[in-house]
Amino acid sequence: MQNIYLDNAATSRMRKEVLDAMIPFFTEEYGNPSSIHAMSRTPRAAVKKARKQIADCINADPSEIFFTSGGTESDNWALISGMEMLEKKGKHIIISSIEHHAVLETSYYLERRGFRVTRVGTDSGGIIKMDELEKAIGPDTVMISVMTANNEIGSIQPVAAIGKLARERGIIFHTDAVQAFGHIPLDVKSMNIDMLSASGHKFGGPKGVGFLFVRKGIKLPPFMHGGEQEEGRRAGTTNVPGVVGMGLAAELACKNMEAANKRLIMLRDHLIDRVLKEIPYSRLNGDRKKRLPSNADFSFEFIEGESMLMSLGMKGICVSTGSACASGSLDPSHVLLGIGLPHEIAHGSIRITIPEETTMEQIDYAADCLKQTVETMRSLSPLYDDFLKKQKA
Ligand SMILES: *Cc1c(COP(=O)(O)O)cnc(C)c1O
Repeated sequence: MQNIYLDNAATSRMRKEVLDAMIPFFTEEYGNPSSIHAMSRTPRAAVKKARKQIADCINADPSEIFFTSGGTESDNWALISGMEMLEKKGKHIIISSIEHHAVLETSYYLERRGFRVTRVGTDSGGIIKMDELEKAIGPDTVMISVMTANNEIGSIQPVAAIGKLARERGIIFHTDAVQAFGHIPLDVKSMNIDMLSASGHKFGGPKGVGFLFVRKGIKLPPFMHGGEQEEGRRAGTTNVPGVVGMGLAAELACKNMEAANKRLIMLRDHLIDRVLKEIPYSRLNGDRKKRLPSNADFSFEFIEGESMLMSLGMKGICVSTGSACASGSLDPSHVLLGIGLPHEIAHGSIRITIPEETTMEQIDYAADCLKQTVETMRSLSPLYDDFLKKQKA
């Protein structure tokens, strides 16, 4: 049986061209770009090219791109070093209530260190409440960090409006764009973004490499201490193959974005239409319009997400549940609870995120399997049985 991979938000397949571009930097061109002899020349030029490939995707200058080990490091760096840098001005940071754990856990760490954090809620579609965000701003607010697009429910935040507000109030604006970069258009200038995190493996590049965009003029102190790499802002020998792969993946993703999204939206909407029409007591989580082209997140009443995941797995379908991130715990995700789902419904949630190469046949097969699985599981559920009896009565 062939697996159908519908978990692209967890990680994406690396493109063949990307692997091909990386290989020479593991083999003949293994030199350290920071050396000053002949063997450093080609790696150094390749890293320079990657920096430009990435900067071009978001209308940044190459000097504003700093390579890291991934999205988690970029988020930690932006928030922790950012707040340390701004501490004298104020100790308050505002984030959304549905951030990725890389931001959320960092915000708890900041609280333990004596910073003040406000977590602003969202509407039922997972879009941040702008009026509450504005009200949360005080004289000591120095940073706002709101993700560009949510990793579970795919909701796309009003980043340009947040950027404008932050800039007017003299507040630094960071966005975790790990799910958005390479997937939806981004422009750090017109959106007034001061710092932006992204990760290679979420857009067809390798794992273990990412970057942080830091707007010129912001003197973000280093997070990793050591050598003088990345203009002294991020120590550690450059991951040349990773950076080269991520650079090419960025260029390809941004070049193909329009065509890919047209196709993804068609596949996604077909899946959503079928599920909502054919499976009773199902709902789509996240905003219907302002959502990532690849994301369909559903809740099914009277169903347990984990069992559903296993049953789908036996049919070769690879998806996630909403609670997958909360390592080991059976609590539903803070995102689903954040948009107001009751516990029992949040428990019956699965996330489908579609890779570009998926066919319509595979989407139809997935929809058939979902329907079958939900029917089978409900037929075994005493809760559902009771519910039907009450409906008849
Ligand atoms: C995957 C992800 C991260 C973490 O990125 P890594 O490169 O895996 O560390 C951070 N934020 C969001 C929104 C993500 O989806």
